[in-house]
Amino acid sequence: MGNKQNLNLLLVDDKPANLKALETVLRQPELSIFKAESGNRALELVLEQDFALVLLDVQMPGMDGYEVAELMRGNKDTRHIPIIFVTAINEEDTQIFKGYEAGAVDFLFKPLNPNILLGKVNIFLELHRQKIALLDANSELKHANSKIQAQQQAVIEEERLKVLLQMAGATAHELNQPLMALLGNIELMEMFDDQPDKQMRFIHRIKEAGERISEIVKKIQTIRHDEVKPYDDKSMIINLDQKINILCVEDSDDDFQLIGDILVKHDWITMTRARDLKSSWKLIRKNKYDLVFLDYVIKGGTGFDVLSRLNKERIDTPVVMVTGQGDEMLASKTIQLGAYDYLPKSKVTESAILRVINNTLERARLRMEMKKAQDKIAEMSILDELTQLYNRRYFNEALEREMSKAQRYESQLVLCILDLDHFKKINDVYGHPAGDKALNEIGRLLEKCFRKSDLLCRYGGEEFAVIIPNTRSDKAYTACDRFRKMVARNVFRYRHMEFKLTVSVGLARLEDIPAETVDGFIEIADRALYEAKTSGRNRVALYDIAKMSVKTERESKTV
Ligand code: GH3
Ligand code: MG
Ligand code: MG
Ligand code: MG
Repeated sequence: MGNKQNLNLLLVDDKPANLKALETVLRQPELSIFKAESGNRALELVLEQDFALVLLDVQMPGMDGYEVAELMRGNKDTRHIPIIFVTAINEEDTQIFKGYEAGAVDFLFKPLNPNILLGKVNIFLELHRQKIALLDANSELKHANSKIQAQQQAVIEEERLKVLLQMAGATAHELNQPLMALLGNIELMEMFDDQPDKQMRFIHRIKEAGERISEIVKKIQTIRHDEVKPYDDKSMIINLDQKINILCVEDSDDDFQLIGDILVKHDWITMTRARDLKSSWKLIRKNKYDLVFLDYVIKGGTGFDVLSRLNKERIDTPVVMVTGQGDEMLASKTIQLGAYDYLPKSKVTESAILRVINNTLERARLRMEMKKAQDKIAEMSILDELTQLYNRRYFNEALEREMSKAQRYESQLVLCILDLDHFKKINDVYGHPAGDKALNEIGRLLEKCFRKSDLLCRYGGEEFAVIIPNTRSDKAYTACDRFRKMVARNVFRYRHMEFKLTVSVGLARLEDIPAETVDGFIEIADRALYEAKTSGRNRVALYDIAKMSVKTERESKTV
């Protein structure tokens, strides 16, 4: 995994003293801090290399922070870099909206509190690390499955397209009406541009329509793509009227009111309250919340207890910790424990709450989508990770395909099942990693011994299967016996240890199966294998239909 590599952080401020102060607080291992004293210099740096985060001063001579952010947003190479604005303006100032429009993910207000600064920065660094880890996991899987990468790409693209199309359907539908109102009223304004009394009315309607559009856009940003509703009787579109379920864990009535009064105003939010640890835990397990606001000190324990338990039970409900005054020291630990964000009670305002909700839901959605893509890749994988041979799922498909091919062309088909002898002992004596390495080496020996046209699979733990098309059984037998000898001669090594292994092999011919099913074929090969095992191991046995039993053609203990 690539998360050992340093993350880059960019500090931008026109005053060198401010840069120095920021750097002192933020300095930490595995973080490379870059500094820029102007907007221009900052832009140069972000184009040169990738950054996990930018702390951007708003008021700077020349190019101000908003302009830098807008230019970064306009460039595809820098668009993804999160920006936290650092500003002396008041938190409730409408200027703030300008900042969010320019692409800020958060704000820090001067004078800076070092703990809040560090906590906020660490949230975004951690998110970046998670993203890298996810991307790494994805690319590792892709690498292991290079053969079907093209197919995977197609499926992922298809999924993405499906979401986009659904999204487009929903969005177009919802946006069309206010958009028409907006455009219609602008037209009217042009027609009646000599009648100021009417103009005011049009402006009012345009404003209304604009606000409706902005509401819809807000919803789109936090939408769950998998929640759909019927549209036009024929197709499904994403449901834009989604309720967001929030659980508020807070024991104090006054503190609850702080958040509750804000949330209750929004009809797209459904809120539930829990007063203590036990009931909150019960609710989280029973219901699917989109977000939990978690008080730090609660009856029965602390918010950390809830976070640890969520981790342990792998429940991924997003949690935002709400800390009391002076609790900022906890922020960093909170994030480490997997909370999405934290909010000091002194900073609870309507805009801060809505911002946290939006950020959190968007990140949760991102995480879920990445996980889905990963699961899909894993599911579509056809190779066994340890040996890089085909896995059992693929084996079953391949065997079915080869069987119908052989039947169609009346060609020969042999199935071999191979099982290592007393392999449990290898693990017991030399350890599991040694066993793993031996299994991998068996894979290499199989590749050496069989032809390119033979299909090599890891069938189970220490069992392998080879599908041999277009080959007479005596030829297949010879190949298997050659392999058996090769294994018996081979010295397996792990660290300073050396050991030997033997293998038993069962063979069966397609024409000998009683009913032409995959399971039937495997069963008779298994019976031959059983015979090889019971008659002494380290041998090859062929299932013989004539005798309705298994015959071991040659018993050879020599290697
Ligand atoms: P037999 O000759 O009868 O086949 O004896 P055995 O010990 O090989 O057979 P058994 O099926 O009882 O045990 C198989 C063992 O293979 C059990 C497990 O320890 C080991 N094994 C299965 N999968 C793996 C794996 O992925 N890695 C390692 N190291 N060992 C594995
Ligand atoms: Mg409390
Ligand atoms: Mg076995
Ligand atoms: Mg075995």
